[in-house]
Amino acid sequence: MAAVDVPRPVPGPRDVLVRIEVAGICGSDRHMFRGEYPTAMPVTLGHEFCGIVEAVGADVRVVAVGDRITADPNIACGQCAACRAGRVNLCAKLQAIGVTRDGGFAEYCVVPENQAVVLPEGIDPRHGAFSEPLACCLHGLDVARIKPGDSVVVLGGGVIGLLMVQLAKLAGAAVVILVTRQAPRRELALTLGATHALDPRAGDVVAMVHEIVSGGADVALECAGVPETFHQSLKVVRKGGAAVLFGVMAQGVEVKVEPFDLLVREVRLESAYLNPHTHQRAADMIAAGQLALDPLISRIVEIADVPEELGGDPRQGDIKVMVRPGQRG
Ligand SMILES: [Zn+2]
Ligand SMILES: [Zn+2]
Repeated sequence: MAAVDVPRPVPGPRDVLVRIEVAGICGSDRHMFRGEYPTAMPVTLGHEFCGIVEAVGADVRVVAVGDRITADPNIACGQCAACRAGRVNLCAKLQAIGVTRDGGFAEYCVVPENQAVVLPEGIDPRHGAFSEPLACCLHGLDVARIKPGDSVVVLGGGVIGLLMVQLAKLAGAAVVILVTRQAPRRELALTLGATHALDPRAGDVVAMVHEIVSGGADVALECAGVPETFHQSLKVVRKGGAAVLFGVMAQGVEVKVEPFDLLVREVRLESAYLNPHTHQRAADMIAAGQLALDPLISRIVEIADVPEELGGDPRQGDIKVMVRPGQRG
């Protein structure tokens, strides 16, 4: 598969046409590219992006030409039972920019006005493109219900894990333990607010966590999307603690759990999917400069490089790779 030329999209009456400045490559793009996650192929992927509005439809009222926007890619129908209950991420007819309709790995993308969040002037578009993953992390944090003074274990040191470390700290966690195999990410996490960084190959993760927090942690955030870390998330939490499933495992993967253990320890097992009502908060946090994002950006690639990036395994050491049409760096 290679990058192809397509006609410039035309915005409908309630849409805006966005010239993409930066689009982030997400782990789920890789899953989608390989057919491990449902999409509506053929489609232009790219759901984490930031750009400048170049044209607006006749009925667009708020967003204006020249605005820098980030898009909440997930478009809920507003009418199904889940939508009417406010649970828009569970919409029965969910559409998503960069999943079921054309997204941001292109020079231009059409965004419904209602999905556009205007960023303040002067925001670095690379930071703006973090709005979507950050919004998903905020939902994870909402589900986890971290309280000031809590102990939190983050399993997985990818971009999500490193955002979660920062959010847990901002939420007031007293102890934040990052678990990842990669030494540079452990070092980075310690500069971003983690109090401890563990190498899972150095010993039994569960025992190491219990040594730091006697009885186990209050919250575990599973951010790696592999069976091993899912299993660990259930074991590192204390009695009455919460394990939040956040990482995306390929469809069909099954994990062994021991219900008796979950029952008698009353572990609250939850999952956090997408970004219901959190995109604006994410954009506000980025605008306020509450997160260190520059250390998470590994490389900037061109649109022509995207198929190779998505088809291959992530390069060793990469945290977030971003696409900047017309500019490598
Ligand atoms: Zn994503
Ligand atoms: Zn709906």
